[in-house]
Amino acid sequence: MRAWVRDRRLPAFRAEQILRWAYQRAAESFESMSDLGREVRAALARDFTLPVLQLADLAHAADDTRKLLFTLEHGRAIESVIIPDPPRLTACISSQAGCAMGCQFCATARLGLQRNLSAVEIAAQLLAVRRQLRPEERLTNVVFMGMGEPLHNYDAVVEASEILTADWGFGLSGRRVTVSTVGLLPQLEQLVRDTSVSIAVSLTATTDALRNRLMPVNRRYPLAELLATCRSLPIAQRRRITFEYVLLAGVNDAAADAARLVKLLHGIRAKVNLIPFNPFPESGFAPPPTAVVREFQQRLLSAGVNASVRATRGRDIQAACGQLAAANSPQSAQRNAEEHR
Ligand code: SAH
Repeated sequence: MRAWVRDRRLPAFRAEQILRWAYQRAAESFESMSDLGREVRAALARDFTLPVLQLADLAHAADDTRKLLFTLEHGRAIESVIIPDPPRLTACISSQAGCAMGCQFCATARLGLQRNLSAVEIAAQLLAVRRQLRPEERLTNVVFMGMGEPLHNYDAVVEASEILTADWGFGLSGRRVTVSTVGLLPQLEQLVRDTSVSIAVSLTATTDALRNRLMPVNRRYPLAELLATCRSLPIAQRRRITFEYVLLAGVNDAAADAARLVKLLHGIRAKVNLIPFNPFPESGFAPPPTAVVREFQQRLLSAGVNASVRATRGRDIQAACGQLAAANSPQSAQRNAEEHR
């Protein structure tokens, strides 16, 4: 937009003014950008489209979690989730349609990678989210924890992060925007240099043997390298890295796992987010009983590791972590099937 404005010899501030209309004020047409001249509006309409996504379905969970399904071209679809947790309200957004990482316990992985989202498509999810909010609700946090591996779509995610944190955009502090990754290490180091967002790393296993099996990315970036990188990330003094740990009954929920986890995180400003597994059809895994989850958390806490259990939200509408597969639209499922034939 800055280049476009420059090419037209317009004053530089017009770029931000236009972006403010698009993102902060959610203008529905260029025509409605009333403090721009008629010619500029017409030129914008010729050269750009406004960030909009096709909302195909809205599901409302008993706990007030809301899931938005958007259809893309070729029957592909992505999902975003609204998670009210007063005084916070978090939007969980997607960075890719499908995902290439192949984590065994994740429904999105079953889709494979369909395609990357553009920065505008990523940000447009938040425009749609905002439209669904009640008058008293306000978006406070954004997590890149929907479909896809954000660091596998690096440039778009960095650009989207700018839209989320810019004054002319969603105006969120980097502390309130969290990018979650399986641990693509070169991109993780770059992200900390390029943006001010917070970091979450999906760990889920404490030995290479198990992590290789659950998260194939571990064969490329094994645990020792992952944790060495986390240890060396230049994150501000008061910030912590979140480590997500999906608890799978009988797989990674034993006392020995907790003990190894404590050792791995030694010397890192870390907080652990325990996520009891959310089931999906034919996953082959189950969540541990609540007592086991509590005990696992207790073992971390008594070793001085900050650990919380992520409340499961929206499970009844398949909106919980690892359940996003955009499969609830019969239409899109059918079109996917046709494409594969
Ligand atoms: N690809 C990124 C972003 C997705 S975040 C990443 O993996 O970090 C989604 C989080 O949900 C990740 O921590 C992932 O490990 C976790 N998850 C995946 N499948 C899950 C499931 N079935 N139940 C609970 N958590 C799951």
